[in-house]
Amino acid sequence: MFLLLRPVGLSCQASCGYCYYKSGHPQLTTHADSKMSIDLIDIIFDGFKKLPDKFHTICLHGGEPLLIGKKWTSQLVEKVKRFSNENNGIRLSLAVQTNGMAIDEEWIEIFKEGCFGVSVSIDGPESIHNAIRIDKKGNGTFKKVFNNIKRLQAYDLFPSAISVISKESLKVSPENYYSFFQENRINEIDIALYIEAGTSEKESIAKSNYEANAEDLLQFIYKLFDLWLYNKDESNLVNIRMFEQTISAILGYTPTICNLQEGLACGRTPCIMPDGTVFACDLETDDVNLVLGNVLKDNFENILSPEKLDSFHSYIKNGFSERGCYTCDVFGLCAFACPRYTLSKRDFSSYCNFTKKYLEFVKTRLNNISISLSGKEINYPILN
Ligand code: SF4
Ligand code: SF4
Repeated sequence: MFLLLRPVGLSCQASCGYCYYKSGHPQLTTHADSKMSIDLIDIIFDGFKKLPDKFHTICLHGGEPLLIGKKWTSQLVEKVKRFSNENNGIRLSLAVQTNGMAIDEEWIEIFKEGCFGVSVSIDGPESIHNAIRIDKKGNGTFKKVFNNIKRLQAYDLFPSAISVISKESLKVSPENYYSFFQENRINEIDIALYIEAGTSEKESIAKSNYEANAEDLLQFIYKLFDLWLYNKDESNLVNIRMFEQTISAILGYTPTICNLQEGLACGRTPCIMPDGTVFACDLETDDVNLVLGNVLKDNFENILSPEKLDSFHSYIKNGFSERGCYTCDVFGLCAFACPRYTLSKRDFSSYCNFTKKYLEFVKTRLNNISISLSGKEINYPILN
C-alpha cells in the first residue's frame, strides 16, 4: 500500500497561488493545524500486520511535512527499522514530498538513514516557479528550493520533482522548460496540470490567474511530449511520468497512476491526518466526501476493507455516470476521470477535448514509430 501521512496536516511555510488546499472547506480546516503524535505510527503499523498486502510505502506529505521536525522524523525512521526487524514478512519503505525550503545537512542525514525516496516541488525555471510558489511574505521560493536540490545532489541524493504546469509555465518555451530539468539533473518529473476543480470564490480567482487555456496547454504538451520521446541524449534523459503512463495505458498495460484506473484506485492511497482521520485521497474538494474513517476509533483493516472501498467506489461511479464518462471513447485512458473533476460542479468539457486530442496525438506518434520499425500500424487494445 502507498500511504500518505500528513504529520502537520496542511500547515506550510509557502503560500502557492494554486494550492489545492485553499478552499477552506471544513473537511480540511478542522484538521489543519495540529501535529501528529508519534504514537499514531504504532497504531498504523499494527494495522499493516492485519492487511493482506505485505509491501508498504509511507510517504510524508503536506502541507509541508518537514515542519513536523527532525526529532519526530528520526523517531519514525527508528520505528520503521524496529518494525522491519520484528516483522520479517512485511517490507516498509519511506518517501517524502517536500517543498524543499527547509532541507539542510541534518535532514539529508535523516533521509539517508531512512532510505527516503525524496521528491521536491519545483515548477521549472525561476520565472515560472517564483510567479506562484511564494512564501508568506510574497517572495519567490526558487533560490532556496533550487539550492537545496543542489545540496541533496551533493550528498548523492537525486530527488525527483513534481512540477505544476500553469499559465505561467507556458511563458517559457517547452525546450527551455525541458532543458531546465536536464541541465540540473532532475531526471524524473511528475507534471501536474493545474486545472481548477473547485468553484469557491478563492478557487475561481486562482483559476483565472493560473489556469492555462486548454488549447494553449495542448500545444505546450505536444512539444514537450516530442522533446521527451525523441530525446537522443541517453545519458541525460528526463522521464515525464504522465507521458510514460499514457503510453502504457494506450498499449493495454495497467498504469500505476491512479487517475487512469477508472476510479478503482481511489481509496487505495489513503491519506492520514494528524488526528487519525483517513481520507481516500489527498486531493480533497468541497464536492467530494473522501473521509473513510479514523485510525483512533475504527479498525484499520475495516477502514480499508473491500466493502468500504466498494461503497466509496459506488459513490464515485455516480460522478462518472453524470459526467458521461462511461459512454466516452477515452474512458480508461483519461487522466480527468478522477472524482475531483467528475464530481465537480464545474464545466470542464474543454479538458475532455484536450484529453481526446492529446490521446490522438500520442497514438499517431506511436503509429509512426511502429510503421518505421515494422511497416505496420499498432492494433490498440483500447483506443481505436
Ligand atoms: S480521487 Fe483522483 S487523484 Fe485521488 S485517488 Fe482517485 S483518481 Fe487519484
Ligand atoms: S474525456 Fe471527459 S467524459 Fe471522457 S472520460 Fe475523461 S472526463 Fe470523462
